[in-house]
Amino acid sequence: MERILDNQHSVLITGGAGFLGSRLCKKYIDQGSQVICLDNLSTGRLGNISPLLNHPRFSFLKHDVTQPVQIPKQVSLIYNMACPASPPKYQANPIHTMKTNVQGALNLLDLALEHDARILQASTSEIYGDPDISPQRESYHGNVNTVGPRSCYDEGKRAAETIFHDYRDFHGADIRIARIFNAYGPGMDPKDGRVVSNFITQALQNKPITVYGDGSQTRSFCFLEDMVEGLMALMHCDADPGDPVNIGNPDEFTVAELAGLVLAQTGSKSDLSFRALPQDDPRRRRPDISVAQSTLGWSPKVSLRQGLDTTIPYFKAEIACARKPIAH
Ligand code: NAD
Ligand code: UDP
Repeated sequence: MERILDNQHSVLITGGAGFLGSRLCKKYIDQGSQVICLDNLSTGRLGNISPLLNHPRFSFLKHDVTQPVQIPKQVSLIYNMACPASPPKYQANPIHTMKTNVQGALNLLDLALEHDARILQASTSEIYGDPDISPQRESYHGNVNTVGPRSCYDEGKRAAETIFHDYRDFHGADIRIARIFNAYGPGMDPKDGRVVSNFITQALQNKPITVYGDGSQTRSFCFLEDMVEGLMALMHCDADPGDPVNIGNPDEFTVAELAGLVLAQTGSKSDLSFRALPQDDPRRRRPDISVAQSTLGWSPKVSLRQGLDTTIPYFKAEIACARKPIAH
């Protein structure tokens, strides 16, 4: 079933005040859609959507997805982005993180059936855990600890995939599942705690760069615009890919290499400060994106170097803004 994107359509974006969700809100407003942003503002910021708040086609609902969701207008597309993505944030209240993933999936799927809407789940590379194979292709079932500090997120997202899949098979829900690999870019919360925001804000202030472990673990970083285009391509593709699809950039970097790039591109005088590697921190992360390439015709275009060039000035402005004295 093709969902044509025009201004007849109404899009619900849960987690719409967050890093990725707010970019999706803007994209759909720019394309003429009606947008409802639903968020509990736990890790999201109203500042991310402040330029949209007075727009006639935009509305904001402060709500927690663990509670049943009712929407005043008919919606045809739902992005379920609601969930903290940063390890320190999702570990701060692990039980609520699990509920957000499981109860949130159930509530949003019930809403999708009620509205006959297509629904996309923001899943994650974390469902692969600490992978035994690299790159990770969708058929790999993962290596996840059920009882570690990351489990509330990893297992919550795994359960959400199962719930989505079963709603499709048992209730005919029109679903999409995106396995998102580390995204970064303008709009990230400088205090988010993820590696890209930490390294850039530390470098810009000439503070020590906190490398966890020896920095040899790898991640594959995908620039915001590429990620959002990938998610939208998956949402709007005519052919149902059926199963989850990896969305990410396959260029793999060690954390130490990322630190080197950030230091060079900011011109910082910071030193590296090595800290303990968090428990269950995955050793490698690199997506096999052949499914996304063949079924969506999507590939990322922005290199890490280019993406950092766009992201560094954003953080510079955020730091300057935070330092500005409050006028009396
Ligand atoms: P984010 O923390 O910036 O945004 C998440 C948003 O969800 C925030 O606005 C937050 O307030 C909201 N939220 C959290 N719990 C909620 C709840 N119970 N009810 C309502 N709103 C709630 O994170 P992000 O980077 O924008 O990630 C968005 C989604 O993509 C998340 O589901 C995340 O798991 C997934 N994802 C992101 C990445 C990444 O690298 N950014 C990687 C893999 C998966
Ligand atoms: N990391 C780091 N320093 C930091 C923050 C994170 O070395 O200040 C490491 C972290 O241990 C992990 C990688 O960077 O190996 C990516 O961490 P992030 O929190 O961004 O996301 P993850 O991919 O682990 O969910």
